[in-house]
Amino acid sequence: MINRIKISKVASIRAKFFNIFAAIICMCFSLNGNSYTFEEPSAGMQKPFSQIDELNKKDPALALAFSKKLLAEHHQQMTDFDKATIFSKMALHNLILGHYKVSQGLLDQAYALKVDLKTDTGISMLLTQGSIMDELGNSEQAMEKYLLAEKYAKANENSKLLAESYAYMAYSYSMNHKDTLALKHYHQAYLQLEKIGDELGLAYLKAEMANSYSLLFDDINAIKLATEASDYFKKHQYYFDELFVQNVLAKIHLRKKDYSKAEATYLRVIELTKENNKTEYVYLAYLGLADTYHRSQQHDKARIFWHKYKEVNPDYENPAAEIGAIVLAAKLEIADDNINAAIEALTRVEAILAPLGKHNALSWYIQLYDLQGKVAIIKEDYKTAYFKQEQARELLKIYYNTERETVRSKYKVMFDTDQAILTNKLLEQDKALNKAALENAVQQQKLQNMIIIIILLFVLVLFYFIYRQILNSKALQKIANTDTLTELANRRYTFIYAQKMLLQAIKAKQNFAMIIFDVDHFKQVNESFGHAGGDIALKEISSTANKYVRAHDILGRIGGEEFLLILPEASSAQAYEIAERIRHAIEHKVIMVNSKPLQITASFGIAQLTDKQDSFKQLFNNADMALFQAKDQGRNQTVIANET
Ligand code: GH3
Ligand code: MG
Ligand code: MG
Repeated sequence: MINRIKISKVASIRAKFFNIFAAIICMCFSLNGNSYTFEEPSAGMQKPFSQIDELNKKDPALALAFSKKLLAEHHQQMTDFDKATIFSKMALHNLILGHYKVSQGLLDQAYALKVDLKTDTGISMLLTQGSIMDELGNSEQAMEKYLLAEKYAKANENSKLLAESYAYMAYSYSMNHKDTLALKHYHQAYLQLEKIGDELGLAYLKAEMANSYSLLFDDINAIKLATEASDYFKKHQYYFDELFVQNVLAKIHLRKKDYSKAEATYLRVIELTKENNKTEYVYLAYLGLADTYHRSQQHDKARIFWHKYKEVNPDYENPAAEIGAIVLAAKLEIADDNINAAIEALTRVEAILAPLGKHNALSWYIQLYDLQGKVAIIKEDYKTAYFKQEQARELLKIYYNTERETVRSKYKVMFDTDQAILTNKLLEQDKALNKAALENAVQQQKLQNMIIIIILLFVLVLFYFIYRQILNSKALQKIANTDTLTELANRRYTFIYAQKMLLQAIKAKQNFAMIIFDVDHFKQVNESFGHAGGDIALKEISSTANKYVRAHDILGRIGGEEFLLILPEASSAQAYEIAERIRHAIEHKVIMVNSKPLQITASFGIAQLTDKQDSFKQLFNNADMALFQAKDQGRNQTVIANET
């Protein structure tokens, strides 16, 4: 069947299980590729031809049976071109079914009808011919056919056939480890299919490209493309094709050593085979699961699925399928130390590989030698083990020199370099950002500090000014309230204070007294000692009197040589005592003016607060009257005002 086409191909052995994709691609193109407008299609054949194509979509075997019937029944009515076209179709069906000789025979029949190879039918023939050559390991000749097909498809402006030409070339390159060329051609095919909007064709191409990307370790693209293809098939109910793409995905997961995903995907493949009555393909999943479990060290499960595989697929239809299965079997036997069974399996592998030649089956030979080496180690035959491993290493060197490995390492270097550059850039960016952030923070800190300093300075200056203002106002107040000569309270302040204290006394119903005293015969002092001498005398009198002033009392100079002493809480008797003490002190004080002694006296008048005499003016007048009386009675004495 379909998947078996490329499996038996020499080149495909190197690609192990990926041969399946080429089968898909071939099938896909064969499905759609047969609906070209032929140069000279006979009108009566158009309907049956499209019927063939429809059947082919389901199963090439059905299409082949129908074609045979058509040829047998309508042979007479068909033109040579019709016949050639149907032979070409049958050649393709047989190619898909893996019958290369039959396919080649049908192609030869078509050639015999002298089909112009430049027609669409001719181009299809060239592609089928190339594919047969590829299958038989003749990829150089195959490429010549593909190139010719490409040239004619271009001339015919047939995008579909051009896409097919590129895809066949790409597959051929891929099988020969020329992955860059393969991808380049896949991309060209992709562009053509995209141009004509062939979504099904694109889906198949994606499956194929997924495989190529996976071989180049680009798992991201591989999984993306395979998933897109799978989604497309699922959505459009091409479950049969989805089955194969799931197989592709499983392979990618397996290669990534993502065993749980590989397992899940293979299980989905099993489901799909059941859902679509395609249980004949279930062996693919069984083999894949056996491989997955073997690689994930679950040997018991691996063995179970290997036996399941053997059950549904007792006879190997082609060498590649057999090799894949037997190598896995050998690995399982080695894991179980079944040396004889392992040797038997490896001998069979050797026999199948022998006709292919080492260079056409490099990876299988590497595995063969490696496993033979392992068996030798179990047998403790270290000489053989060494020899086999040496052989495996030799081939591995050659394998690493293939383009696939070159491209792999190139991709890896590119990827690593990109990563490194990216990391560097990110680091530098980080550094720059950190530096900027740091600088910014420093600037901000500076600014903050400056603002704080400015505010502090401002507050300091403000406080200084306020302080100065307070000082000034205090000084001014003092100046305003003080008599400059004697430094006693001046008249204004004495009067204000006296009135205030009087009101308090009245309110508190307390005593309140005042004393007015006047220096006696002061004119004479001025006359004898001069005005300056008089000033000295006034100062001395003031300080002498001030000694008798208590905390809440106030002594003020209210005129030239007149003084007022306010005594809150004092009665007139108490005031009298104080007045007498002051009078005595003044009388006995010897004042030195210009080295000459001066003795002086003063007269005192006292008034006190009574119920009737309670205004400052009245009290002041009363005290003044008392003072006048003291003067009148001979001076140097104290008189208490009459309270009536
Ligand atoms: P009495 O009071 O005993 O009747 O005699 P008096 O000589 O003191 O009389 P009066 O009160 O009329 O004179 C006061 C004098 O005091 C007049 C003035 O020259 C003098 N006098 C007033 N103020 C000052 C002052 O600030 N300095 C000096 N040196 N003399 C002053
Ligand atoms: Mg006087
Ligand atoms: Mg006087």
